[in-house]
Amino acid sequence: MKSINPSNLEVIQEFDEMSESQVDQIIDQVHHTWQSWKLTSFDHRAKLLIQLAAALRKNKDRYAKTITAEMGKVLSESEAEIEKCAVTCEYYAENGEKFLATEHISTEASVSRVAYEPLGIVLGIMPWNFPFWQAFRYIIPSMMAGNTCLLKHASNVSQCALDIEEVMLEAGFPVDSFRTLLIPGKKMDRVIENPKVAAVTLTGSTEAGRAVASKAGEQLKKTVLELGGSDPYVILEDADLDLAVSTCLKSRLINNGQSCIAAKRFIVVESIYEDFKRTFMEAMKQKTYGDPLSEVDLGPMASTALRDELHEQVLSSINEGAYCLLGGKIPKEKGAFYPPTILVNLHPGMPAFDEELFGPVASIISAKDEEEAIDLANQSCFGLGAAIFTRDVKRGEAIAQTKLQAGSCFVNELVHSDPRLPFGGIKDSGYGRELGSFGIKEFVNTKTVFVK
Ligand code: NAP
Repeated sequence: MKSINPSNLEVIQEFDEMSESQVDQIIDQVHHTWQSWKLTSFDHRAKLLIQLAAALRKNKDRYAKTITAEMGKVLSESEAEIEKCAVTCEYYAENGEKFLATEHISTEASVSRVAYEPLGIVLGIMPWNFPFWQAFRYIIPSMMAGNTCLLKHASNVSQCALDIEEVMLEAGFPVDSFRTLLIPGKKMDRVIENPKVAAVTLTGSTEAGRAVASKAGEQLKKTVLELGGSDPYVILEDADLDLAVSTCLKSRLINNGQSCIAAKRFIVVESIYEDFKRTFMEAMKQKTYGDPLSEVDLGPMASTALRDELHEQVLSSINEGAYCLLGGKIPKEKGAFYPPTILVNLHPGMPAFDEELFGPVASIISAKDEEEAIDLANQSCFGLGAAIFTRDVKRGEAIAQTKLQAGSCFVNELVHSDPRLPFGGIKDSGYGRELGSFGIKEFVNTKTVFVK
């Protein structure tokens, strides 16, 4: 398994794929550790999470550089990612016990209550785009609930996966309470089938989600799926144009355009369409790309294969009648770079409308009025996030709450995850929730206790 620096296409490191017997042995060990870990107190687990936050911050520079080297995001974003993991450790250290407190329910019984018990090993299958954050988003609540964890990370970020194993040990988590498996996605069926694996959480593409959910379903194992998205940002005629443009731009370009909740389709009401398009293009033109360790807005995409796939989607949209206002050409320099790109003249049926464009390509779509804009926003197989821009906050709130089909709807703000709020999607964006009180309850046995 190879890690390749997407800025210069040089191999950073090669890792030996684990054999079936090595994998089986790790699963046995992590299951064995669970027997004692599940009996530890919340206080003890919270203390370790606080130590984990400290260890993450102590190693922030090194971990951030590894993220940037393996998947190409600009260094400041890698540093921010580590900080977000540390904050989430503190959040669950403070709130985890409260979320899982036993609930007493009054019935005719002398005692009737609900207790939350850990399930066992939670297997995480994770993507490369936020190599620390995506993994810690399930590891932290799962460990706090008394589960142990296995991580199968994306094959291009193996050093990040090993760094996560390292930092867990440095923080004081027991040996074999958390382990990384270095194997490719296509070999995961055996792991999912292992009776010692209790549940599976996958963050990744819809295709991988379907494959993992089928296998886990066959085994009757609980899954959480955090999949792709094509988030619509609806710009109404009364929007604050500068706010809408700067927020849309930030959301589209974050993580070199490779975020599940990046704004991907900008649906703009006709009367403000030309102004939005012009202002957005002026701002997008200023964005620079290059070596992610230098002062640039964008690094490369995570690999040339992903960049070429994105370019194909752009070209087929153009073939079907879209117009490329900016970018749209593969640069000559070495590396998996793709320039900030804008497509217009778009409609349903084109890849830039129907599919997820996982890179710095903005699709700007015109709508007659609010009703058509909402209709277009909802014309998607995805339902991860959505945002609406209007100066009439009440109007925005009502549209967010009752009209947009997505797991998270934001008004005058970019869709983002926050440890205090549940995060997840509907439709082809998956099911289940991470974060908040909802996330920690996904991988527990909600147990009813009844005493006559
Ligand atoms: P991916 O190709 O689906 O890979 C994700 C993970 O699944 C990797 O670890 C991959 O392993 C593994 N995998 C792939 N096929 C598998 C299979 N058949 N069985 C078991 N495991 C399998 O996705 P990606 O390219 O890494 O990430 C980009 C996608 O993730 C985008 O669609 C993005 O929107 C989505 N995403 C969603 C969220 C969210 O919270 N909703 C967050 C971030 C990203 P290998 O690397 O070894 O193939």
